[in-house]
Amino acid sequence: MTNPVSFTRDLEKLTAPLDALAKSNDHLSCEHVSYLSKQGMMESLPKYVFSGPGDRRSHLKVGIFAGIHGDEDTGVDAISRFIVLLNREPEIARGYELFLYPVCNRHGYLTDSRWSEDGLDINREFWKGSAEPEVRALERELEANRFDGIVALHSDDTSEGLYGFVKGHELTRYVLEPALEAAGMFLPRNFDKSIDNFEANDGIIEQGYEGILTAPPTQKFRPFEIVFETPHLADAGRQVEAHLAAMAVILERFKVLISEGQNI
Ligand SMILES: [Zn+2]
Repeated sequence: MTNPVSFTRDLEKLTAPLDALAKSNDHLSCEHVSYLSKQGMMESLPKYVFSGPGDRRSHLKVGIFAGIHGDEDTGVDAISRFIVLLNREPEIARGYELFLYPVCNRHGYLTDSRWSEDGLDINREFWKGSAEPEVRALERELEANRFDGIVALHSDDTSEGLYGFVKGHELTRYVLEPALEAAGMFLPRNFDKSIDNFEANDGIIEQGYEGILTAPPTQKFRPFEIVFETPHLADAGRQVEAHLAAMAVILERFKVLISEGQNI
């Protein structure tokens, strides 16, 4: 059977080494998310769960998502590098159960396109009864896991520097600020007063689009929610490093703020 869509990329190439790693590491499991495509085919989104050191009962659950726009590879590469890093240095994830979704838009990734199979931006489709199968599969994940923190990695071809959106918990900007600072080792920050048509302060935007990947509206505890953006046209290697640095700092700060928050 011929497929009219030309797939330019192979998801297996990305997942095979990570799946192999999961087999050999007790803290890492691969739990790919199956869903039915619009053509009635069983497909899946890659998902890895890493359980860090510490008492599992008190672990914070954080979901890290990339490839929501299928042509933004540096976030995808960063998550796959992060999984390899966790394997070597599990202490990074002390106190956490990490849910890692490197490719959220399967069709977009395979065709190297921003869009879904139907030409939609899946990051405008959440929590509005979307028929997009990837959105529905991810909504089920967000419902089932009720994350304490949500991080989405993106890259923006209209920005020349790093920036991010904060949402959810009121202290979230104090998690993003040091993450931007750390990532600033690799790429400049965007200090414009307006980014993406939103008011921005030192690269932090507190508004945002409707329909982005976010916690379920019914979730009572508002998690930390961060959208981290690298400048898409910058050197790809530096973008990956920036994402990695941001993820490490976000995890460091999350823990501290949550434990301090409980003492306030
Ligand atoms: Zn994006």
